[in-house]
Amino acid sequence: MSKNPNGHEIISLFETMYPKAFAMEGDPIGLHIGALNRPVTNVLIALDVTEEVVDEAIEKQAGLIIAHHPLVYRPLKTIHTDTAYGRIIEKCIKHDIAVYAAHTNVDIASGGVNDLLAEALGLVQTEVLVPTYEENLKKLVVFVPVSHRESVQQALGDSGAGHIGNYSSCTFNVEGTGTFLPLEGTKPYTGTAGKLEHVEEVRIETIFPASLQRKVVRAMLAAHPYEEVAYDIYPLENKGNVLGLGKIGYLPEAMTLEQFAGYVKERLDVPAVRVVGTLQDTVEKVAVVGGDGNKYIKQAKFKGADVYVTGDLYYHVAHDAMMLGLHVVDPGHNVEKIMKAGVQKQLQQKATEKKLAVTVHASTINTEPFTFI
Ligand SMILES: [Zn+2]
Repeated sequence: MSKNPNGHEIISLFETMYPKAFAMEGDPIGLHIGALNRPVTNVLIALDVTEEVVDEAIEKQAGLIIAHHPLVYRPLKTIHTDTAYGRIIEKCIKHDIAVYAAHTNVDIASGGVNDLLAEALGLVQTEVLVPTYEENLKKLVVFVPVSHRESVQQALGDSGAGHIGNYSSCTFNVEGTGTFLPLEGTKPYTGTAGKLEHVEEVRIETIFPASLQRKVVRAMLAAHPYEEVAYDIYPLENKGNVLGLGKIGYLPEAMTLEQFAGYVKERLDVPAVRVVGTLQDTVEKVAVVGGDGNKYIKQAKFKGADVYVTGDLYYHVAHDAMMLGLHVVDPGHNVEKIMKAGVQKQLQQKATEKKLAVTVHASTINTEPFTFI
């Protein structure tokens, strides 16, 4: 049986893929308008929240818009409903539409904007261009009666614990004897109140990213038969996955800068690109940052990129790139539109797995402000 979720349930599912903790400091992510406690049957994934996008949400009966670019970027002093901006807010409130922003967390998380762009460009052997976040790891040790060893191991693995490199569900187990004295008023799973019990138990230990702690502990407790579960959580010095802005990797085969410019137009579905560098030069190693990547040209050069793909390139930064000997292809900021279909697919899949009766739509509104003539 599928169930009708509310906004909170959808957002908590979304945040398992795009945790808020991944966002850059000061990025105004999260709920911007409305409330999440209402039932939601349709969700709209958008790059920007324009009035047309809100109209699309009304038409699709979407109670929640998840947008990449935050609607309220600077503090508002007034909300005048005779301006386009005020009307956006007015329409959302009148139609019970919540607006939630997921910005740099969607740039940084795996499967997000930069992964989608690297994938669209067919890059291989990719790595993070600008590291911004290193996962903290923790260790969970739990004592389980032998009879429940497998169900607890399974629950831990399903919750995402025990992920090491390309291996999942890693645990270490050692058997021993647990003792306990059930006090008066207890309902012990085994033994009787007032008598010291000896039980064959397994000590299961596993590792997990700190961001998953609540999920892992909840799953472990649900699978464990005891009334009072004995478990320890240790902080670790080991670091987990490195995440960050942008990707760098190799094209399947080298090509000229001119060919690459055409390739970018086609792969990222843009009508035009701006190119910095000699068109006949050969390029193979590519760095990509979705949106405005002006700040990171040095990192692209330092990591050995032949060409850097990013939007909103400033005139003076283009000169800096030339001086560094770095080629640049600027396909515009709007290539981030790639997140609409990417996130739609991921969220729909998660919701279906969880049997939530919700349809996730990718916005079909083109929010590119520029016309290329
Ligand atoms: Zn952007």
